[in-house]
Amino acid sequence: MILILKKNPETQEYKDLKAWLEAQHVIVKETIGEERIVWGLLGDTSEIDADRLGALKIVESVKRMDEPYKKASRHFHQEDTVIRIGNCEIGGKDFCSIAGPCSVETADQIREVALSVAKSGANMLRGGAFKPRTSPYSFQGKQEEGIRLLELAKKESGLPIVTEIMEISQLPLFENIDVIQVGARNMQNYALLKELGMQDKPVLLKRGMNATYEEWLMSAEYIMAEGNEQVILCERGIRTFETYTRNTLDLTAVPALKRLTHLPIIVDPSHGTGKAELVPDMAMASVACGAHGVMVEVHNNPEHAWSDGAQSIDTCEFANLNSRMKAMYQFMQE
Ligand code: PEP
Ligand code: MN
Repeated sequence: MILILKKNPETQEYKDLKAWLEAQHVIVKETIGEERIVWGLLGDTSEIDADRLGALKIVESVKRMDEPYKKASRHFHQEDTVIRIGNCEIGGKDFCSIAGPCSVETADQIREVALSVAKSGANMLRGGAFKPRTSPYSFQGKQEEGIRLLELAKKESGLPIVTEIMEISQLPLFENIDVIQVGARNMQNYALLKELGMQDKPVLLKRGMNATYEEWLMSAEYIMAEGNEQVILCERGIRTFETYTRNTLDLTAVPALKRLTHLPIIVDPSHGTGKAELVPDMAMASVACGAHGVMVEVHNNPEHAWSDGAQSIDTCEFANLNSRMKAMYQFMQE
């Protein structure tokens, strides 16, 4: 962190600030120029609030040179984090494919999709029981009953489950859920993130639709700072001026995040495009740019899906896509 002090700083304030910084275990390297005094702060500055420093009377400007996140940073943790879920080591040698409907609808629907994607080699089953919908009049998910149906589908298919939590009060229902999903709309729900940080369960953290990489990693940091280091990041597209697709899938996030963080990163091309016909190509592109996994919406009858039918591929398309993604991942490892 670099601090530029105002011209002729008041002596007591200068001394106080220096003493305070040293008490935070940073080394203050001072350069006295003709016009300004510049301080280079060396050491771990992740817990120093740059905005508060910037508000001090004697400080002209503050520039952070390192990342404000620490636990999520590659800088402080060189090795990739590998998270074991069922038979899959995500972030490691295994490709993790997650498939299932947008929403859990009926017992037959979720069972049929689960058995089919399991047969096609999926590693996890997705399905929303609590649905964040733009309209309060749209289907809101089967809620508690949806969780029960997911548990049954897990039993029959053997697939671990990932499903979205929308608020802290729902947590007791997630006892048998393998991975808790935080949706794009809740990426900055800090109270929820903190609570999930106290759980001993992997969290799939989707990127907020207007979040920068840094904001996204700061959200991961919220979970990790409470002790839960099992965070999987999921790129799902961001809002841009383009209206042809539902979102703009930012695949640059994959190689960029792999440099910034040690956490596994997967891609959701379904919400990323909003169009089923674009999903297979973008899923393959996700693997080709280094994603550790892909999450796709798959339905046994997309035309009659209760939510997101237009972006759901059918079970046959998934079977074909999954074998191509696995082959691509293998190729990427060589
Ligand atoms: C979902 O995965 O079901 C979902 C609602 O996605 P997002 O939070 O990315 O919109
Ligand atoms: Mn959906």
